[in-house]
Amino acid sequence: MKQNLLELKDVSKLFDTTEALKDIDLNVKKNEFITLLGPSGCGKTTILRIIGGFEYPTNGRVYFEDIDITDMPPYKRRVNTVFQRYSLFPHMDVYDNIAFGLNIKKVNKNTIKTKVEKMLDLVNLSGFENRTIDSLSGGQQQRIAIARALVNEPEVLLLDEPLAALDLKLRKEMQVELKNMQQSLGITFVYVTHDQEEALTMSDTVVVMNHGVIQQMGSPEDIYNEPNNVFVADFIGASNIIDGIMIQDLLVEFSGREFICVDKGFGENRPVDIVIRPEDIKIVDKDAGMLEGIVKSVTFKGVHYEILVESQGYTWMVHTTLIEEVGRKVGLSIFPDDIHIMEKEEGL
Ligand code: ATP
Repeated sequence: MKQNLLELKDVSKLFDTTEALKDIDLNVKKNEFITLLGPSGCGKTTILRIIGGFEYPTNGRVYFEDIDITDMPPYKRRVNTVFQRYSLFPHMDVYDNIAFGLNIKKVNKNTIKTKVEKMLDLVNLSGFENRTIDSLSGGQQQRIAIARALVNEPEVLLLDEPLAALDLKLRKEMQVELKNMQQSLGITFVYVTHDQEEALTMSDTVVVMNHGVIQQMGSPEDIYNEPNNVFVADFIGASNIIDGIMIQDLLVEFSGREFICVDKGFGENRPVDIVIRPEDIKIVDKDAGMLEGIVKSVTFKGVHYEILVESQGYTWMVHTTLIEEVGRKVGLSIFPDDIHIMEKEEGL
């Protein structure tokens, strides 16, 4: 078991009348790559700012190695932040930007030089010491911002959408580089993004948030395969979400017929939400499926086709590598363990 490094206990934050965070309990383990994921305004940055000490919680406490740091000023915390807009100093060159924190701490000049060179090597920018910030590309600025944070040897690095300004190709490359850095340095990363693919690719643990509340926390596989509720299912990858009735354990009704499923414990004849991933629906011959429908559209998505099939007034999204003909009558086949049943939730 990895040791708990950082803990938020019952943390809430109120900005005037906006409840940015509600009763957040969050544990971050040593060397963990944990990602806060959710739509704009769900409270991700506020959590990061509370961990960094830039924001004070309205309620609750923050602990570092079991010591209460809620009242500790930011500069005393063993935490560094990489902001979305890298906040590099434009009037200083690359060397002075990276050396900034060490100069403030009055570290010996030779030690600073060695450390800055080591950091530049780590982010693959050796030889860039004397470059001005505005002569760097977005990706290079991003690396310098990381080097500037890492040179202080923080135990936790807080990263607020650090790749948001980069184009897709560079973002993918940096995702791999960041993950490699995190693993080789053994630093704990708390990462904020609204990009679900980024979260699933990089993290050990994903924390899905909505309206200031943690919806689900778990490994990327758990979050994707076993979403807790309709919000998580929808936010993490496209999903078909349809009303259903849980008739009894292992038997559910939707789209006008009964289906065997693997869930139980919902009671009898209870309204539920049914979630089915587009890649879990097979298009078969008209009479060979559980549902019958008509192909409404076929869109090529690079790796697969996205096919919309209308059946009983609902439009199913299917992802498949096999092309279909628009207007064809088809059958839809769904395996019991691909039918995910969720309690209906208020307000989602
Ligand atoms: P984004 O992805 O857009 O950055 P986020 O998930 O990081 O969003 P936060 O920045 O944490 O969201 O904001 C959560 C809520 O708190 C939002 O409704 C926001 O408008 C509000 N909020 C954040 N900071 C302040 C502030 N200083 N004053 C007033 N309201 C604030």
